[in-house]
Amino acid sequence: MSNAIPYPLAPTPFPKDVMQIISDLSEMHALACRLRREGISIGLVPTMGAFHEGHLSLMRRARAENDVCLTSLFVNPTQFVRGEDLSRYPRDPEADARMAEGAGCSILFVPETEAVYPEGFATYVEPTRLTDHLCGLSRPGHFRGVATVVLMLFELTRPVRAYFGRKDYQQIKVIERMVKDFHLPVEIVPMPLVRESGGLAMSSRNRYLSTEERRSATVLFRALQAARSRFEAGERNPATIRDLMRDTLLSEPQTVIDYVSVSHPETLEELDRIEERALAALAVRIGPARLIDNTVLGEPMADVFAEGAV
Ligand code: AMP
Repeated sequence: MSNAIPYPLAPTPFPKDVMQIISDLSEMHALACRLRREGISIGLVPTMGAFHEGHLSLMRRARAENDVCLTSLFVNPTQFVRGEDLSRYPRDPEADARMAEGAGCSILFVPETEAVYPEGFATYVEPTRLTDHLCGLSRPGHFRGVATVVLMLFELTRPVRAYFGRKDYQQIKVIERMVKDFHLPVEIVPMPLVRESGGLAMSSRNRYLSTEERRSATVLFRALQAARSRFEAGERNPATIRDLMRDTLLSEPQTVIDYVSVSHPETLEELDRIEERALAALAVRIGPARLIDNTVLGEPMADVFAEGAV
């Protein structure tokens, strides 16, 4: 008989190709800390589910650039503002799990609302300045909910990198600012906006649209394209570009405009003269859905066109 004491000197291998689903917060935290200690890098993709190609592109990149892709799926109540129906938000957990695994995700983190926000919850992250514009004005409190949950997710999952889509341009700016302000050890990776072949930006909320509304919704992309063409022809007056986008949007009778903006791509302040670059951003209601879209004038178009219904 050997006197050797069995002791696991090598770290337990981590299964990357079979996705595990974790809902318990302590279990998630313990695993994330273990992986960090063992030098296994996590790429985090925070989502609210109802996956489409936009989400999957983030997961594939997270898997390619890290040892492990960890996707969180949590429909975060605190980022819904008064009048927005949280209970109607599209949910499809089984399809989401299959799609996430297919995109190379090794951990799907699906916490319960009561665990994330237990009785007595009272602490929020309050982003300022960047939220005085665009969706921050029309959805007061939205980015407070986003920043709060993203900070919690960073703490629970310990990512080396976190992936966010440029479809939600202002969200990226708010998160980048929070990471700087709180000295968080995570790299924010902005990812290209993914569109359907007809130009409609992919969004879970597109599931609310009828076939006819989906067709009308391509008007957001047409308005941004009109802005890009006018800018490329030399126009530098934001008011002219805003009018052009507004007129294009109103050519579809179903559209109700929330905002049409030409702003500074870093501060998000409305511009009265474009120097080099400008963010052209839109928010529009079509039927039951509030849709947003954007492009940066003065930058080459980096959007990705995926296969999909028009
Ligand atoms: P959501 O589930 O809508 O909260 O989105 C989760 C992440 O996916 C966010 O970082 C979004 O910006 C990103 N995302 C959503 N739609 C798209 C899209 N069409 N293209 C690229 N990223 C997207």
